[in-house]
Amino acid sequence: MFNALVVTKDDESGKTSAAVSQIGVDQLPEGEVLVAVEYSTVNYKDGLCIGPGGGLVRSWPHVPGIDFAGTVEASEDARYKPGDKVVLTGWRVGENRWGGYAQKARVKADMLVPLPQGLDTRMAMAVGTAGFTAMLAVMALEDHGIKDGPVLVTGAAGGVGSVATAILSKLGHKVAAVTGRPETEDYLRGLGATEIVARGEINETVKRPLESERWGGCVDAVGGAMLARVLGQMMYGASVAAVGLAGGAGLPATVVPFLLRGVNLLGIDSVMQPYDNRVRAWERIARDLPQDKLEAMIRPATLGDLPQLGADILKGQVKGRVVVDVNA
Ligand code: NDP
Repeated sequence: MFNALVVTKDDESGKTSAAVSQIGVDQLPEGEVLVAVEYSTVNYKDGLCIGPGGGLVRSWPHVPGIDFAGTVEASEDARYKPGDKVVLTGWRVGENRWGGYAQKARVKADMLVPLPQGLDTRMAMAVGTAGFTAMLAVMALEDHGIKDGPVLVTGAAGGVGSVATAILSKLGHKVAAVTGRPETEDYLRGLGATEIVARGEINETVKRPLESERWGGCVDAVGGAMLARVLGQMMYGASVAAVGLAGGAGLPATVVPFLLRGVNLLGIDSVMQPYDNRVRAWERIARDLPQDKLEAMIRPATLGDLPQLGADILKGQVKGRVVVDVNA
């Protein structure tokens, strides 16, 4: 038996509740690889799956945790052998399949990526799904060409935004970080932001479809009115990598930035990335992420802290990266 954060649902009231309890290997889902989980993290989706109503979960009891890193304990797949270090993001693990908030997880071999050299399991989860997605966003911007101007990062003090800021800065770009939390300025400058932009300055309804050209690229974790406004501020031919919708799913924009400025809107999906892309992104993370800066973003947590952290992340109150030591 081992520890896991288990979410249960009361059939009568429909209420869900989450608590640390003991489960057995025989309860884990089918899969070729059994992993001794070492670390997981807390993402917005985890908040939804832990929170009231169960969010993205369709059957209970459920073990959330959309990402994890650990060591292979047993494998029926030739690609993995006991002792290999592995990382998992995506595949709806932790949503429609039991995930990483447990000391063991069983998954399909295709879902895993070998941990690249230079990254340990704790640092891999300091990166987590948010940082992996930030890397995918940076790679998408690079593929389309980053223009000679500051790169805007929205939701900068959050998970995706923090890692995107650190990576872009390490790659030599000027980074303008948008935040609604002025108290995070020192933190964001520590990650390499060269300019802090107040959320209120950008988060207004679009008044004119085109404004002065300001940004050579953008990683947008916020969506909604902020994304709509940013589109009209992009430099000619620049790209926005749209990652999230922390500020809303609507997009009250016009087509003018696309027609008259050739702006590219690139959608980033970390869940169904092909294996080669996942390997490439993790290798880039091992190479391009300033791990000392990431260290400063880490907030350690245990399985028992997760119900509160899940609620906090839904309110946009989590700063940086929570790293959950499932064995603590
Ligand atoms: P966090 O909660 O850590 O960060 C989101 C940040 O957005 C907050 O810290 C805050 O930044 C800002 N924000 C929150 N609410 C608002 C609002 N109403 N208006 C403007 N800004 C707001 O989440 P993550 O960074 O982990 O994820 C960000 C988004 O990306 C989420 O929507 C998530 O679901 C999505 N995502 C998508 C993935 C994909 O594959 N496409 C993968 C991972 C995440 P600040 O305090 O600095 O203003």
